[in-house]
Amino acid sequence: MAGEGREVFDAFPEWVKVTFYVLAAATIAVFALGVWLRARRYWRARRGIGRFNHLIRRAWDAVKEVTLVRSRIWRHDRYAGIAHDLTLWGFGVLFLGTVILTVDEDVLHLFFGFRVLTGAPYLVYSLVLDLFGILLLVGIAMLIYRRARGTPRLRYGERDVSEGVSVARSILDDRLFLSLLVLAGIAGFLAEGIRIYRDGTGFAQEWSPVGVALAWLIGATGASDGAAFTTHMAVWWIHAVGALALVAYIPYSKALHMLAGFGSLAFHDENAGRRLEAPAYAEPGGFARLSDFSWAQLLHLDACVRCGRCDDACPAKASGLPISPRGLILELKSFAGRVKGGTAKAVVGNAIEASTLWSCATCMACMDACPLRVEHVPLIVEMRRYLVAQGALDAGVQRALEGLSRYGNSFGKPARARAKWTPKGNGSVRDARKEAVEYLWFVGDFASYDPRLQQLTAMTAATFAKMGLDFGIMHEDERNSGNDIRRLGEEGLFTMLRDANVEALNACRYRDVVTTDPHTYNTLRNEYPNLNGGRVLHYTELLDEMIRRGRLRFSKKLGYRVTYHDPCYLGRYNGVYDAPRNVLKALGAELVEMPRNRCRSFCCGAGGGRVWMTESSVQAERPADLRVKEAAALDGVGILVVACPKDYVMFLDAVKSAGAEDRLVVKDLIELVEEAL
Ligand code: SF4
Ligand code: SF4
Repeated sequence: MAGEGREVFDAFPEWVKVTFYVLAAATIAVFALGVWLRARRYWRARRGIGRFNHLIRRAWDAVKEVTLVRSRIWRHDRYAGIAHDLTLWGFGVLFLGTVILTVDEDVLHLFFGFRVLTGAPYLVYSLVLDLFGILLLVGIAMLIYRRARGTPRLRYGERDVSEGVSVARSILDDRLFLSLLVLAGIAGFLAEGIRIYRDGTGFAQEWSPVGVALAWLIGATGASDGAAFTTHMAVWWIHAVGALALVAYIPYSKALHMLAGFGSLAFHDENAGRRLEAPAYAEPGGFARLSDFSWAQLLHLDACVRCGRCDDACPAKASGLPISPRGLILELKSFAGRVKGGTAKAVVGNAIEASTLWSCATCMACMDACPLRVEHVPLIVEMRRYLVAQGALDAGVQRALEGLSRYGNSFGKPARARAKWTPKGNGSVRDARKEAVEYLWFVGDFASYDPRLQQLTAMTAATFAKMGLDFGIMHEDERNSGNDIRRLGEEGLFTMLRDANVEALNACRYRDVVTTDPHTYNTLRNEYPNLNGGRVLHYTELLDEMIRRGRLRFSKKLGYRVTYHDPCYLGRYNGVYDAPRNVLKALGAELVEMPRNRCRSFCCGAGGGRVWMTESSVQAERPADLRVKEAAALDGVGILVVACPKDYVMFLDAVKSAGAEDRLVVKDLIELVEEAL
């Protein structure tokens, strides 16, 4: 009936109303205290990290991510995406409905003597809340089912959680959060059903379909008016206390991700990992104390929901190294909660072990998988900087760094030996320091010095020449680009190498820089100053461009059945997925994708300086071995195509150790191009 609405407290005695308002005020106070404690921690954190640009765009992107697009939570796990979105939308709309009801009752009715929720608006309101209540319960049921079924990543192991946050406490927190949601949802429906049963169906109750159905069931029990009233009040209280407890619990539990997660999405750094920030500490010596965390880093820690997607994606964890990206984030979060901001207690050693930090290959798979854009790699590098400042380094890394400081390359060989791979008399390879070239080829350390690669490098030069490419190199004036040195935490050496390279590059005349090394590509493109206004290209991009422009044609189609490994620093870091695939297509090769392809590509394990580290005995199987097995398992595939010098040597070795030489050959993309020319 048009003029009717709903009394919030129905015919309950006055003490119910008073008690509820007292509890609601206490809930708001507890909630506000929790939020204030977090905000105070962020406020006391290190300044100097600017993420307040484009605030409206950032907020809108986060809203889209949370409500409309859900690109990350749906990615690779549709079940979790559906379950989460049903819960999110159900909870969100019910929460909004409660706010509207409160304003209607306690502001409009109390102070102005009228209500909005009457007649038609109330009917629509009732229907919408009923429908979203169902969505909420279905979503929660799906989440509970997933846990009951024992989804591996939701089973926390000691190492996967942290010392500060016990497995039992994590499970309890999970269960409590879901239980409060269930309690508030089911009790809300029951209260509605009993209310409708008591009110009768004179009012247009069919707009509350769930309530009507429950009222009918309650009617079938033959409950008396008195019993219905008492039960109604009891269930109403369960609903009210459940909902209030849920709100109060938010800042102290996993549910905090409702707030911090939004902040994490809004304030994430689009270039996180690929462009590392220079250190900005009060004192030199790396990321040592809690006060060295930035507010954005603390926010990311609070956003973590323990979903374990990062753990699932981590090649270092898969190979048995002592690292869990989820455990690392949770341990830091717990440390931030345990320790006061100004304390001198070091993070490394007390919260995170050095072995954990050195296990990381900086592949960024964890960051890519994280639905809340938690930034693991910059945190790991910050802590590595501390270890470097302490001189706590692996022997292999120490050797590489000595070579780099002395000779500018990680092989510890003289600079003049850098271009020894070139054909006698330099052949077709021109000197970009002496004459202008269209493309300056930044060759990189591995392609220049590694004896397993020098033949391939010479062949690449010959192929470039055959393609009619106008290119040259910097010979001994080239230094290691510093990408992996920076990710090892050696910022000083990185700066030195970068400055030397910039000076050498500025002395040459060229249009674009091209490199075959994705690591070099990443730092030149993202961490070097804009050199001469030209582009930095990976050779796969250049080949693709030349094919599209008709500058590169092949005289034969290869027809091989191949698979392609996306290098982390090319794919995940810089989004170059299509160019190498386009080249393979133009070559006439049949591409069979590995199960983990494109952004899910599985790292070879060489990044972040791990290529220099002495082999770890705790490693059950190296990431490169696991990857080669994945490729070898593909039906009829005989070639594993790579586009990175480090991948080439890692996989050559892995194919041998897997005894798969008769089934799988590792080839660089340029070898196929050469064959087809
Ligand atoms: S960057 Fe890669 S290796 Fe390092 S923690 Fe993340 S997933 Fe693991
Ligand atoms: S860091 Fe991200 S992916 Fe990893 S457990 Fe936390 S929320 Fe999940």
